[in-house]
Amino acid sequence: MTPGHTDRVADHTARFAAFLEAEVAPLEAELAAQDVGTAYNPRLDEAGRMHPAVWEARREVQRRSAAAGLYNPHVGAAVGGGGFTRAEMQHVEEFVYRRSGLGLGLAALGWTEGANPAIEHCSDTARKEWLEPLMAGEITAAFANTEIHVGTDVLAMETTARRDGADWILDGTKAWITNAHFADVVQVVAVTEPGAGSRSLSMFLVDATSPGFTRGRDIPTMLDDGLTGELHLEGVRVPPENVVGEVGDGFALAMAWINWRRLCRGGMCAGWGTWLLERALDRAQHRTSGGAPIAELQAVQHMLADMDADVYAARAASLQAQVELDALPGGPYGMPLHPDAPRLTSLVKVINDEAFFRVADRAVQVHGGTGLRLGSPEEKLFRLARNLKIPAGTVEIQRNAIARGLLRRGVGR
Ligand SMILES: Cc1cc2nc3c(=O)[nH]c(=O)nc-3n(C[C@H](O)[C@H](O)[C@H](O)COP(=O)(O)OP(=O)(O)OC[C@H]3O[C@@H](n4cnc5c(N)ncnc54)[C@H](O)[C@@H]3O)c2cc1C
Repeated sequence: MTPGHTDRVADHTARFAAFLEAEVAPLEAELAAQDVGTAYNPRLDEAGRMHPAVWEARREVQRRSAAAGLYNPHVGAAVGGGGFTRAEMQHVEEFVYRRSGLGLGLAALGWTEGANPAIEHCSDTARKEWLEPLMAGEITAAFANTEIHVGTDVLAMETTARRDGADWILDGTKAWITNAHFADVVQVVAVTEPGAGSRSLSMFLVDATSPGFTRGRDIPTMLDDGLTGELHLEGVRVPPENVVGEVGDGFALAMAWINWRRLCRGGMCAGWGTWLLERALDRAQHRTSGGAPIAELQAVQHMLADMDADVYAARAASLQAQVELDALPGGPYGMPLHPDAPRLTSLVKVINDEAFFRVADRAVQVHGGTGLRLGSPEEKLFRLARNLKIPAGTVEIQRNAIARGLLRRGVGR
């Protein structure tokens, strides 16, 4: 059996397939009737943000998915999630991405908007107030680490948190934040002890209705989804129970969140890659040139074969790395993180980011001009593939981590 393909994975994916048909398809039909774009090619409102009807359709899928017990397989069992391993999650994610394509079904799995390995470290009070509603799909979250002048160099961030009695007062501006426009609670990383290196940061749960918290401009990106923006914190008061983990844990918690997104690349790229390959095969068998299907041309066959090779290799490598991460003391997001984890995690990210970029490029090429049509799945996923090489740590930063791992202990097993 393929590692990680357990009975509960089979159960989850079967239930997800039924959910797509019974719960998601009618919502997609309703959305299509409204002329507001689609789930992943939404119209934007006058402020450049995702059209509210598209956002609401995604939210409804999240609520229904949570009610059906499908939204939180990745969340730890200790806080009420499915407690799936990363190897199991790769199979679940591949299935969800392949079956959903660019449809509303993708919202059925908690990602940036939902619960994550960092927020699991919140206090009991915050668990009731924030984590449980997040897991129920009642509210959404954002993760605010990056700033206008600080991306890769996280420890140089300028947002501060200072004590005021038992509370904390946060000041600063965060930028490039996914779900900035809609999040109900924001996981803000801020400096609590300047100069203390990897202990200088802490993570806070900030209620988006707090005085002093404002949503800034949309930052339009090539994703064109109206979801990325700025957040301003001016004297925002945060109670002590909204500190995640311990004061000084912010860097480790931020890395837990970021590493989770890195590892999700395995199932995402295998799922979307397979979907693109299926679409390319179909196109090649039906599009003719010189009186015969282009699938009979060796030039096109080689593109299909190269897509298959990239998807197959990236899937296998990701699964291997995630099996190894699951077996490490503390697992993939341990605090402290096992020293072998960064190399394995970065291998997953760089292998998938680069393989999926080639896959998406070839998918466009097989489709010819049709692949360039604005809003086509090939065009959208090509833009998305280009994007993937930057957020959650650039591909250069992944190479830094891989090299550090190699220099520390060689090539491992
Ligand atoms: C669509 C989108 C969504 C995002 N969502 C979020 C979010 O939800 N929350 C959040 O906090 N952030 C988010 N980000 C920010 C994202 O994480 C950063 O853009 C990313 O970490 C890179 O930082 P930067 O853009 O400042 O690039 P820079 O750090 O300026 O890097 C520029 C170039 O220099 C290279 N470089 C920099 N430092 C090094 C180094 N030490 N070694 C080698 N090369 C180096 C980089 O690899 C890159 O090629 C998002 C970004 C985008 C585009």
